[in-house]
Parts: sequence; C-alpha cells; structure tokens
Amino acid sequence: MISRKEITELLLSKEPEIISNLYKRAADLKLQTIGPKVHLRGLIEISNICRKNCLYCGIRKANTLCERYTLTDEEIMTCAKHAYAAEFGSIVIQGGERTGRQFTERITSLVERIKFIGNGALGITLSLGEQSEEVYKEWFEAGAHRYLLRIETSDPDLFRKIHPNDGHHTYDRRIKALMDLKSIGYQAGSGVMIGLPWQNAEHLASDLLFLREMDFPMIGMGPYVPHDDTPLTVTTTTDPEASFPSVADRLELSLKMISLLRILVPDINIAASTALEALHPKGRIMAIHAGANIVMPNITPSDYRKYYNLYDRKAILLEDLDLGDAEIGFGEWGDSLHFFNKV
Ligand code: SAM
Ligand code: SF4
Repeated sequence: MISRKEITELLLSKEPEIISNLYKRAADLKLQTIGPKVHLRGLIEISNICRKNCLYCGIRKANTLCERYTLTDEEIMTCAKHAYAAEFGSIVIQGGERTGRQFTERITSLVERIKFIGNGALGITLSLGEQSEEVYKEWFEAGAHRYLLRIETSDPDLFRKIHPNDGHHTYDRRIKALMDLKSIGYQAGSGVMIGLPWQNAEHLASDLLFLREMDFPMIGMGPYVPHDDTPLTVTTTTDPEASFPSVADRLELSLKMISLLRILVPDINIAASTALEALHPKGRIMAIHAGANIVMPNITPSDYRKYYNLYDRKAILLEDLDLGDAEIGFGEWGDSLHFFNKV
C-alpha cells in the first residue's frame, strides 16, 4: 500500500523516470484489474443557468457576461438518441444547479423518456449539483443510476476560499449531498480540481485519501483552468499567495493524481476529464495512459457549446473522438467494478 508520504513525494517529483514509472504502474494495474477497455459517456450540457456563484466557474450566476441558454426537451432527446445510435452506452446530463418543482419534474420526465430509448439501453448519469434528498430519490426512481458531484477540494479551508461566504456554498452541505446520493443507491462519483490557487501537494494527497475513504466508485478529477470573468482569476492577479501552477505543471499533476488514485483503489472508474483537453490536445489520451478508463465525449449541439464556458476551452469546442489505440467498450454501460465488488 502506498503511504501519504510516498504520495506527496511522487506529486512533488520532477524526475522523468519516476513519473513515467508511476504512469506505467497505474496503467498496468488498470489492465490487470478492470481490463483494457475505455467506456464512453455522451455529455449533454443542458443549460448554463445556475443559482450558484462558485468563484472559479465561468457560468456562475453573477457573471453577467455569460449568455444563457437552455436546451429544449426535444434537443436533449435528440442528443440521447444520437448517443444510443453511436453506441455510447451511457449519457451524462449536466448543467448549472437549479431548484424548484418545474425544473426537478422536467428532469424526472426527461430521465423517464430517455429510459424508453432502446428499452433502457442507455445508462443515465446526472450532474446537476446539490439537491434535496427527495429530489435525488425522485430522479433515481425515474431511472438515473449514477450522479456526479465533485467535492472540489477535501480541505474545508480551501473549499471556503474558492466559494463565496454566503451560506449557500458550504462544505458540510456538499458532504451531506454526497452521503444522500450514496444511501439512495446511486453510483456516486466525486472528484477535485487540481492546481487550484493556494493548493499544495499536501492538499492533493489528502484529496486522494479522502476519495478512497469515502469509497466513491467513480472519480472525475481535472485541472483547474482559469476563466477571465471570475473572481478567482482576479484574486490570483492581486494576491501573491493565490498563485497556482503553470499549464505544464497542472497537466503533469493531474496525470499523477489519476495514477495515484488508480494505485490506491484499482477497481474504480476514473474519468479522463475534459478540462485536460483544454491544457493539451492529447490530454485525454495521456490520462488513459496514466490509468483513466472513462471518457465523456461532448454531444451537446455544437451551436450551444461556446456558451457552456466554465473555463477558457476554445481549444475543445470542436473535439473529435481521438482516443489513440484505446479499446472502446461500445454499447456497454461500463459500470464501476468497485461498486459491484462492494454490493
Ligand atoms: N453545477 C454542477 C456542479 O457544480 O456540480 C455541474 C456542472 S459544474 C460546471 C461541473 C464541474 O465543473 C464542477 O464540479 C467543477 O469542478 C468544474 N469546473 C467549474 N469551473 C472550473 C474551472 N474554472 N476549471 C476547472 N473545472 C471547473
Ligand atoms: Fe454553478 Fe456548478 Fe459552476 Fe458552481 S461549478 S457555479 S454550481 S455550474
């Protein structure tokens, strides 16, 4: 078993041989534990309207420069049918956090309609932020079986620094939401951002141990990518203590985090995050070689993609699905082996 000290040392290492051995060890472990396949989740970004104000996010409510959109039910159904036809196996419905019966019932009915496609052929993951336990239950009963909600950072102090202090963005609420998702029976996915202002190797080592401790069957971790119109970017230019790593270092740290997590919990699903692609055109292939086994191709209608601007991602607006020599599990759900090993 790998210790906290070793994890921290590996995160800090600049030795090319040590780093490439780490990636190789994780990729070999993935092959032995869950096999060679990469599974796909077609990502549908249904709306950039959000009630939250996370300080790092380009679609935060207070960003008046962000042009808002919401896909219609029919547009979402067309995306889901496209995912089915392309044998993606699963979809992710992601968007800004919203509440209210009109919104939550709309999601319920969409999940029910998507379940009809191919007679339940598509796995459905939701990623719509913090909701009440009742709403999570309603969506689960409608047919969603996975939910993605990142903890963003496992350190409560750092969490406070990257969220507004308005009572709506609390660490405790995030933990409660994650516990609710697990107890309802979702395959709950979480994760963190890597290379945040103020974040150090100790924080990242704690994140990995936290993710293992919480026993999440799937994880999506990706680099922090600044967005010009967010308060966090302003802070990083005015507060010398809020510095963060270069693009190359954030890329390397993200790949190391994937490898280390694979070594800590070999049988989970680990996503090659889309944000990696914003840092390097081959970011996702690199992540697969470092131990990731899930890719989320964006299937949002292309006219809307430029508005879902979490960070500067011009580089990935026209993505193609080049996954190098990876073997793709077409038409399969690709559920987390860890989840079923536990059950
Ligand atoms: N609103 C939902 C939520 O927050 O869980 C789902 C959508 S949210 C945009 C999905 C993820 O985007 C967040 O969990 C966060 O980690 C990531 N994100 C937001 N801004 C980012 C940034 N500037 N760099 C990297 N990732 C970012
Ligand atoms: Fe909203 Fe999610 Fe962005 Fe936070 S990260 S502002 S909840 S879309």
